[in-house]
Amino acid sequence: MVVESIEYICKNCNKELKEDEIPCMNCNSSSRKISIVIKETLVISDFISRARTKNPNISGHTYEITNKMKTSGETQLPTKETMIIDRTSNDITIKHHIVMEKEGDDWITKHDEIVEFNAKIRQKKNQQNEG
Ligand SMILES: [Zn+2]
Repeated sequence: MVVESIEYICKNCNKELKEDEIPCMNCNSSSRKISIVIKETLVISDFISRARTKNPNISGHTYEITNKMKTSGETQLPTKETMIIDRTSNDITIKHHIVMEKEGDDWITKHDEIVEFNAKIRQKKNQQNEG
């Protein structure tokens, strides 16, 4: 996002003002409108958030959420991509991948995939003391 230009216009007489022209030299009013022209550049990825929670009692058990905001290359619509990796269970790891596109005011789910697979053994082997 790039600010291309900023316009200052007198609210009273609609004269275009300079940035430091307060009050208006035409009508002496000090209230003015400011309009900012923003140039949208092609955004590949402008927002990434990552949240990771851990089960404090069991090591290696995590629940990780990654959110990415980007613009779809095909449709040019805002796209939200969420990846959840749930390792909170002993037996399975759940991978949840969601892609949503914003059409008007609505977020439309374009992709929703849940994959479960057997968890790698995370538990430490019990060490037995002999003798
Ligand atoms: Zn004026």
